[in-house]
Amino acid sequence: MSTQSKAVLITGASSGIGEATAIHLARAGHQVLAGARRTERLSDLAGRLRADGADLRTTHLDVTDPDSVHAFAATGTELFGRVDVLVNNAGVMPLSLVEDLRVDEWNQMIDVNIRGVLHGIAAVLPGMRERGSGHIVNVASVSGLRVDPTAAVYSATKFAVRAISEGLRQESRDVRVTVVCPGFTRTELTHQGGDAAVQQAARAATDELAIPPSAIARAIAFAVDQPADVDVSELVVRPTAQG
Ligand code: NDP
Repeated sequence: MSTQSKAVLITGASSGIGEATAIHLARAGHQVLAGARRTERLSDLAGRLRADGADLRTTHLDVTDPDSVHAFAATGTELFGRVDVLVNNAGVMPLSLVEDLRVDEWNQMIDVNIRGVLHGIAAVLPGMRERGSGHIVNVASVSGLRVDPTAAVYSATKFAVRAISEGLRQESRDVRVTVVCPGFTRTELTHQGGDAAVQQAARAATDELAIPPSAIARAIAFAVDQPADVDVSELVVRPTAQG
């Protein structure tokens, strides 16, 4: 196992899985740049880590905007001299029935969950190819493996993330690609948008079972810490009791 310090960029690090991954990797001695729209939460996180003796850099990031994602990668390169790892974690899940035709929320999921991942790849891949190494970690979901009622569009975005990851992995001889599929994880994912009753039901169904985001962070760290010739291509991490 490599213990080398890597330059890691994490999208959507202001809460949940992204925040837990930033904490885990920064504490492990990696150089981490955390991005999200809620920069005050990122600053709080950096302050907490500093008090612990760990360093975390933060910046504003909107993954739906390609310029913002390119600026994120440029900041990482400026700070650390290179980008070794990109964790494409930012995501949204406003659940509803397809027949409710919440078209704006479908587009938001496509923009954040699919385009956001592609923007991240476009921003870091040329530099990684040039250096002949790098690692892209895409956070998909168990919803990328199966479809449940009210999650049709969300699932579609996560199937897409798995397809993009697998395609990129097959093309690549030097850049590692990992897709991580979390199951129910205790985060703020159901707090925004969607049909209120559906989101409430999703919370009720998952809260009891859900695992902490640190469980997903450990899986991401496992993939990141492998040597350059070892690609952990897919990890499914879910509560033991999740059906
Ligand atoms: P949270 O809601 O806690 O975190 C989502 C993160 O995404 C936030 O930091 C948010 O930051 C960020 N984000 C949303 N939109 C944007 C944007 N346009 N630009 C930049 N960042 C954005 O949920 P999770 O931690 O659960 O979600 C993380 C990932 O895990 C998602 O991809 C999700 O689909 C996936 N996942 C989660 C599961 C769960 O049970 N929790 C299960 C399976 C997968 P901000 O609002 O500050 O921009």
